[in-house]
Amino acid sequence: MIKTTPSVCPYCGTGCGIGLRSDGDKVIGVEPISSHPISKGRLCSKGWSAAFATGHENRVTSPMIREGEGFRKASWDEALTLIHEKFSYHRDHHGPETVGMISCARATNEDNYAIQKFARTVLKTNNIDHCARICHSPSVAGLQQTLGSGAMTNSIADVGKADVIVVFGCDPTESHSIIGSDIMKAKEAGALLMVVDPRRTRLAEIADVHLQLRLGTNVALLNGLVNIILERGWEDKAFVAERVDDLDVMRKAIAEYTPERVEEITGVPVDQQIQFARLYSHARAAFLAYGMGVTQYVSGTNNVMSISNLALICGHVGKQGAGINPLRGQNNVQGACDMGCLPCQYPGYQQANDPAVRDKFAKAWGTTVGQIPGMTSLGMNEAMLDDAFHALMIFGEDPVLTDPDQNQVTKALKKLDCLVVVEMVMTETAQLADVVLPAACFAEKNGTFASCERRVQRVRKAVNPPGECKSDWQTIAMMAEKFGAKGFGWANSEEVFNEIVSVTPIYSHMSYPRLDESRGLQWPCNTHHPDGSPVLHERSFPIGKARLIPVHNLPTAEQPDVEYPYYLTTIRLHFHYGCGSMTRKSPLLERESPKGLLFMNPRDANNQKLFNHAPVGVRSRRGYIETRVVVTDQVPPGLLSIPYHFFDTPSNQLTNDAQDPVTRMPELKACAVRVEPL
Ligand code: SF4
Repeated sequence: MIKTTPSVCPYCGTGCGIGLRSDGDKVIGVEPISSHPISKGRLCSKGWSAAFATGHENRVTSPMIREGEGFRKASWDEALTLIHEKFSYHRDHHGPETVGMISCARATNEDNYAIQKFARTVLKTNNIDHCARICHSPSVAGLQQTLGSGAMTNSIADVGKADVIVVFGCDPTESHSIIGSDIMKAKEAGALLMVVDPRRTRLAEIADVHLQLRLGTNVALLNGLVNIILERGWEDKAFVAERVDDLDVMRKAIAEYTPERVEEITGVPVDQQIQFARLYSHARAAFLAYGMGVTQYVSGTNNVMSISNLALICGHVGKQGAGINPLRGQNNVQGACDMGCLPCQYPGYQQANDPAVRDKFAKAWGTTVGQIPGMTSLGMNEAMLDDAFHALMIFGEDPVLTDPDQNQVTKALKKLDCLVVVEMVMTETAQLADVVLPAACFAEKNGTFASCERRVQRVRKAVNPPGECKSDWQTIAMMAEKFGAKGFGWANSEEVFNEIVSVTPIYSHMSYPRLDESRGLQWPCNTHHPDGSPVLHERSFPIGKARLIPVHNLPTAEQPDVEYPYYLTTIRLHFHYGCGSMTRKSPLLERESPKGLLFMNPRDANNQKLFNHAPVGVRSRRGYIETRVVVTDQVPPGLLSIPYHFFDTPSNQLTNDAQDPVTRMPELKACAVRVEPL
C-alpha cells in the first residue's frame, strides 16, 4: 500500500518539509508539504531527488571486518567485540586522549547525542567532533564571543521582512536553493540586495550593489565599512548606547582602515564602500546571510566577529528582519552542535572546561566523564601522524574527501590501529576501515533534525532499514552494552529525546508531541520562551551587552606566486551536496552535473591558450588532479573555483590545511595552484 510520511529533507540546513512516498519497504518518491513553515510547498532539485538517497543497491547492510585488502561479513557481536577490545585497550593503556569519535551532521539529534555521551562516559574522552569544524566552527566561536550565541539570529521567513538583504561570501541559489529563491522574491518585492563576494554569483548579477573584493580580505573591508559609518555618525546611537559595549575601543582600533587603504587591500572602490555603508546603516531592517566564504579562512573567527561588529553598530540585531545569519550547510549540522558533538561543549553549548558543567553531566549520566581537553577532528589527524592517537570511530562522514590535504588525511587514517566507520555506503573513508557498521538512512528512522534557523523538527520512519542497518543511537546502545556501560538502555528515539531535553536548557520545553503539533520549535524553547524563539536577542543578549571586538586583517596562509600563480577557491553546486555520497546516487542529479570542473576567467584562459572544456591538470604544493576548464567571467582574473563534490576530481588533493588559530578551521577557501594544459 502506498503511504506518505511527513519528514524533513536530508540535504542542506534549510530544513524543508518533505512527504516520503513509500510502497512497502521502498521509498518511491517525495512530495513537498504545502503547510511547512519554511518551504511552503517547495523543494529544490536535491529535495525532489531525496528518494534516490535511500534504497541504493550499494548500501552496506551488515557489519564487515577487514580481511587483507577487502572485507568479510561479520555478526554484530563479532564486530562489537573487536571494537570493544581495541578501544578499551587503547583507552586503558595509552590514555583516553588516544581514542575518539567523529559524529554525523546528517544523522539525527538522538544519534548525535548518543555518540557524544558514549565518547564522554565510556571512552572518557572529549575527543568528539564533526564536520561543523570545517564549515561553521568560526560562527559558533565568533558569535558566542560577540553576542553570546553562535547560531542564526533570525528565521528564514525574515528575509521577506527586511528592506535590505546582504549576502556575504555564499551563493544560496546553489547551496540553500529555497533560501536563494526567497531572497530573489524579496528583491522582486522591493528589497535592496547587496552581495559581497569575489565571484560574480547568480545573486551578484541581479544585486543592487556587488562588492567584488579580493579573496581573503573580508576583515579589511568590514573594518573599512565600520570606519565609514562611525566617521559619518551613521551608527544607531540609541541601540549602541543601550545594548553594546566597547564602541570607543572599536573606533580607535579601526581608524587606520581608511576607504583609500581599504581599496588598496580589497580592490573595492571607495565610492562603492561608501554606498554600501550608507545603504546598510540607513536600512530599517537589514538581514545579513553569510556562508563559508566567511568562515573557511585562517581568519574565519575574525571574519565572523567583523560581521557582528558591522551589524551591532547599525542596530541590525535582535529584531524581525534584521540579524546575522550563518547559513549552515548540512541538514543537521546545527543539531550536531546543539547536541555537544564538539570537544569544548556539552549539549546546549555548556562549556566542557567548566567543572560545574562536567559535574552536572556526570550526575545526570551516573558516571565519570572525560576530563582532558578534547581535540578537534584536524587535531586528531595530526596526533595520528605523530603516532599519538590509535582508535577512531567515524559516523557518516567522509574526511578523505572533505578534509583539506587528502594525501595527509589518508596517511593519518592508515596509521590507526583501529578505524571504525558507520556508514550507508562504502565511502572513500570506509574503504580504509578495519570495521564497517551498517547505518540506517533518514527515511528509515525516527528522530529530530535542527535546521539552520534553530528549528527542531520531527524526522519520521517511512520504511524499514535494509538488512541489519540501525539508527546510530541503537548502534551506540549495543556498543555500550558490550563495554558494560549503563545509561544507554533507551527503548526508542523518543526516550533519547526526553533525556536530551532533561540536560539541555535551550530544548527544555520541547517534546515529540509538541514538535508534532507545532511543525517544529526554534530554540531557545524554555520557561522564558515556551513556544520557541523565531528571533534571538530581542530584549537582551545572553552575555548582557553585546561586545564589539576589533580584529585585524590577516593575509591568507598561501598566496599566488611565480610557481603557483592562481588563487583556488572551493564552491558548491546546486545539483550536489557534500562529498556527493547521496546526491551522486541520483541519476537525475548526476545527469545535470556529472563531474567536477574548473572555472576560469576568459583572460586567464586566453593567456594559457585554453578553450572551453579543455582538459587540464591542476597542481598545488600538496597534490594534483585532472579536470576540464569552464571559461566564465563568474570568476575574476587570477581566481579559479572548483566544486568539492566529486571524488573523481577531489579538490582536497589541492587545498591547504593551514588553520584558524581559534577554531582550527582549515583554509579551504584559498590556496595557490597552477594550471597545466593537457
Ligand atoms: Fe532540501 Fe535544502 Fe533543497 Fe530544501 S533547499 S529541498 S532542504 S536541499
